[in-house]
Amino acid sequence: MTIGIPKEIFKNENRVAISPVVTAALAKKGFTVNVEAGAGVGAKFSNQDYEAAGARVGDKNKVYDSDIVLKVRAPAAAELPLLRQNGTLISFVYPAQNKELVDQLAAKKITLFGMDCVPRISRAQVFDALSSMSNISGYKGVIEAANHFGRFFTGQITAAGKVPPAKVLVIGGGVAGLSAIGTAKSMGAIVRGFDTRAEVKEQVQSLGAEFLEVDIEESGEGTGGYAKEMSPEFIKAEMDLFMKQCKEVDIVITTALIPGKPAPKLISREMIEAMRDGSVVVDLASEAGGNIATTKPGELYVYKGVTHVGYTDLPSRLPTQSSTLYGNNISKLLLSFGDGKENYYLDMEDEVVRGSMVLHNGELMWPPPPPKEI
Ligand code: NAD
Repeated sequence: MTIGIPKEIFKNENRVAISPVVTAALAKKGFTVNVEAGAGVGAKFSNQDYEAAGARVGDKNKVYDSDIVLKVRAPAAAELPLLRQNGTLISFVYPAQNKELVDQLAAKKITLFGMDCVPRISRAQVFDALSSMSNISGYKGVIEAANHFGRFFTGQITAAGKVPPAKVLVIGGGVAGLSAIGTAKSMGAIVRGFDTRAEVKEQVQSLGAEFLEVDIEESGEGTGGYAKEMSPEFIKAEMDLFMKQCKEVDIVITTALIPGKPAPKLISREMIEAMRDGSVVVDLASEAGGNIATTKPGELYVYKGVTHVGYTDLPSRLPTQSSTLYGNNISKLLLSFGDGKENYYLDMEDEVVRGSMVLHNGELMWPPPPPKEI
């Protein structure tokens, strides 16, 4: 059975679907891995690395004509004619936002799996590319903040004077937020976290950060471990808290999201104007509209002395790491479909198979029935 690894063609996309290490693991299981020449260059994997791992490195036609194509981004229009009729494709898909693409792939009778559709149940954590990418975004968000901040994160007493530690506020303590908290803490900053879900308190504190709270009793728990939209009273109370924090902290990193809704606006223009010159804000929710009123999605700019990082492609800015983790997620998902070797079949009773499947031989399978397992 052949697996194709194309070079991602989306602008500035540096990731590749699998690393050479994963290539070797798939080759050992009996798959023939066809890698497009230069596919790994952005992630610092050379053609020779893939060849040494057992891949056949060649031109794109052969790669897209493989039995199973593994990609990071959903295919662009230019890639559609290259995909094999009745083939299998696994990539990020976001079917709700990409209906036209799903129709085009259906017309080619493709079997399509969305890495973003993998059910978030315990058993499927190993395939959870959304969490892998969120973890990277949280880490890289802090690195970007440090890069644009004019001081140390850690406090120091030196012969040249005493340096106070930076103060970092992280709003939203899901996967990305906890990663940002852990990273900022490990760099020596004073870190504070806030979330609407009660269970996050212990997680924030276990990372050595302070958990901030408001004086309103309201559960933030939605379905499936995600957040629900909060009442206007709660949002007002948390924004009052953030106003006070903005006068004090050097860096604000926001990660608050609610599935299927625009990101809640939590940091107003006035709060940004209240921050000291030289402060940095990183809006990890910017692709969903942003938590910060002054964010420009995808852009880096300075507003009234405050550097705004609105990048929407942070995983691609840490491409070796993200390709390595994504490659582990996607290859383990693929191997779970069969007997763990090259023998590949689809058990439609399997919740992970059924949940992540968007098309089966061109037939629309999304959205799947609600999950049974926790
Ligand atoms: P997310 O990216 O959807 O949201 C980020 C965070 O924003 C959440 O913690 C949410 O509570 C918070 N938030 C929303 N509105 C807010 C507001 N007004 N103010 C402050 N914070 C707000 O979340 P995620 O990181 O994808 O996952 C959230 C949770 O889902 C995880 O912490 C975990 O419990 C669960 N999860 C489970 C699995 C699994 O079992 N496989 C995998 C991933 C996540």
